[in-house]
Amino acid sequence: MTDFRIAVLPGDGIGPDVTAEGLKTLRAVETAIPELRFHCDEMSVGANEFLRGGDPLPPATMERMKDYDAILLGAMGLPGVRWPDGKEMTPQIDIREILDLYCGLRPIRTYHADDSPLKNGANIDLVLIRENTEGLFFGRHGSADLNGDMAQDTMRVTRHASVRLFHSAFKLARERRKKVTLVDKANVLPTMAYFRHIFQQVAAEYPDVATESVYVDAAALFLVRRPQDFDVMVTENMFGDILSDLASGLVGGMGMAPSGDIGDKYAVFQPSHGTAPDIAGMGIANPVAMILSTAMMLDWLPGEASKQGGRLLHRAVESILADPSARTPDVGGILKTHEMGDRIAAAVLAAST
Ligand code: ATP
Repeated sequence: MTDFRIAVLPGDGIGPDVTAEGLKTLRAVETAIPELRFHCDEMSVGANEFLRGGDPLPPATMERMKDYDAILLGAMGLPGVRWPDGKEMTPQIDIREILDLYCGLRPIRTYHADDSPLKNGANIDLVLIRENTEGLFFGRHGSADLNGDMAQDTMRVTRHASVRLFHSAFKLARERRKKVTLVDKANVLPTMAYFRHIFQQVAAEYPDVATESVYVDAAALFLVRRPQDFDVMVTENMFGDILSDLASGLVGGMGMAPSGDIGDKYAVFQPSHGTAPDIAGMGIANPVAMILSTAMMLDWLPGEASKQGGRLLHRAVESILADPSARTPDVGGILKTHEMGDRIAAAVLAAST
């Protein structure tokens, strides 16, 4: 028997709706592979937790998460719930920094050409790796005098964070099509010239992997013009934040884009999207990103049984999405959140019998 303890943080907005579907498919995997057992405990973190108790990320909850094998997170933050300086509450970013989850993995894949707004949208299959602990997001620790004459942010790039990030990118590329694209702005910013220099040093240790360096503005263009050319893309925090939304748009939108925030000890798996307050409570959120994030968690957990579970869940998603009418409204379909989850869970069970 392989037992795992999972901390479940449904969060705000559509977070709880899609988390329920992720857990539904996890239970289907558990039924399909009797050797696997998941002990899931829900914890309250986010804007609603702030409204309840005054802190979006209570320290006791943060400590408790560390006792679990993995963390599954829905989405957090609500536009109307802000700190006095106007910033939204983003405990999911605090968790990344506290648990040192430096490697933000964002797989982008077309499951059916109809999902893409591009004429050439079939067969996109890339992974965007976003540095998660510094970069331009380092500026979030500062503050702005909203009535003052200026505001300024700091972009931080350290050797330590960059080296470990690039090693993750090259190791992943070795399991894929052996190509890493660095996305930077080395022609303008000293931090990015430094980032590129470190990239080239790490690249020398992986002579079997092809590399290229592309400025972030050109990367936005190339992602739209020839997305199939990319395998693993690696970039700093803010560029990754922006490009991952763009890339998700190429394959059907935020509801199709999973993510894993991985460190050396802990990992959090969550859809790339936010709390989507415009559709919260309507039962129409797309749970695919959450279900694929659940599959990524299974890939990451140790042992063959969980990896087998990950493969089973990925295949179940593929088999359901092969029919382009099996979609929620955000991707042109009519299915409700729970119906999409039901279909994928049923496909897991069908594949195992
Ligand atoms: P954040 O800043 O928290 O990342 P965001 O500004 O990127 O959030 P989202 O909450 O991700 O915004 O929503 C962006 C748009 O995508 C909204 O119109 C929302 O309804 C839609 N959207 C996001 N996730 C989903 C989903 N799972 N299903 C359907 N639509 C979604």
